[in-house]
Amino acid sequence: MDYEALRAFLEERGEPPFREEQVREWLARGATGYGEMTNLPAGLREDLEREVPISTLTVTRTATSSDGTVKALFETADRRPLEAVLMRYRDGRRSVCLSSQSGCPLTCTFCATGTMQFGRNLTGDEIIDQALHFRRIEPIDHAVFMGMGEPMMNLDAVFDACERLPEVGIANSKTTVSTVGWLPGIERMATEGPTVRLALSLHAPEDALRSEIMPVNDRYPIAELIEACLEWRTKRKRKVFVEYLMLEGVNDSPDQARQLAALLGTGHDFKVNLIPFNPSGTGYVGSSREAIEAFRQALGRAGVHATVRLTRGRDIDAACGQLAVRESVA
Ligand code: SAH
Repeated sequence: MDYEALRAFLEERGEPPFREEQVREWLARGATGYGEMTNLPAGLREDLEREVPISTLTVTRTATSSDGTVKALFETADRRPLEAVLMRYRDGRRSVCLSSQSGCPLTCTFCATGTMQFGRNLTGDEIIDQALHFRRIEPIDHAVFMGMGEPMMNLDAVFDACERLPEVGIANSKTTVSTVGWLPGIERMATEGPTVRLALSLHAPEDALRSEIMPVNDRYPIAELIEACLEWRTKRKRKVFVEYLMLEGVNDSPDQARQLAALLGTGHDFKVNLIPFNPSGTGYVGSSREAIEAFRQALGRAGVHATVRLTRGRDIDAACGQLAVRESVA
């Protein structure tokens, strides 16, 4: 919902200010159209239907995976593509994976989004509208900024969206902002903005390799990132999630596990998540299940506990790193 457009429309009609709040509440509860908003006068509902689109985004495609994951491809009003995903877990969790940008200006070599053209930052309304789309299907309670884009390059809009997610059912403690390691963003998040969780996409235990697969590392090297994460940890009193993508023959040896453990330390400041790689057309091969398990155990022996992430939505290209490419590169 473009709230500025809604506000302008209501003002022009001389409607009382609480009308905006009423619309907001209906949307947060999953209303699919103005017709359902029965505490608005019928005439107003009809005019709104005609004049103010219910979402800033148009759905151009949806797909449902055999594991229940739902992917939606959207277009903004200026026709920029983006995707969001609803992940359903057996324990009842309903998590939405949100995009913060259309495309991404960074060029991580393993990531499909990095191969498409960067469009622009999304607005807070465009981010919330992704969540609202899935809220119309069912209640949702977790959010991760792990869709397209680098959230910390668009932090004002991401903060704005995070502040509004609780009204849709997603508490800040259930919201995770994942970053490539955009240092100024991590520093800002330590002192400003809603108290959401922080995840660092590390993917390598030393600078030479990390710079090779994540060129942004030349700008913000590992030591500075770790320091900023520890600062965030101290200020926010929460563990930092560390994401570590498992790439065969690249970053998955037991030696590299020991290096990673040495880097993160045994002080329980980090929570490591090993991520099985999803084919992204970038030439990498994911580590085998055995290699991932051996890596996890090597970390454990060095005093660092790690979990292996469940992969969702692989059969519909909705898994991490597979977003939007098929449709939008063409
Ligand atoms: N730019 C942010 C958020 C978007 S990417 C970030 O880098 O954290 C979300 C996560 O998906 C990141 O950890 C990213 O490295 C990972 N990812 C990218 N491509 C992937 C792939 N093909 N398989 C699995 N994870 C991937």
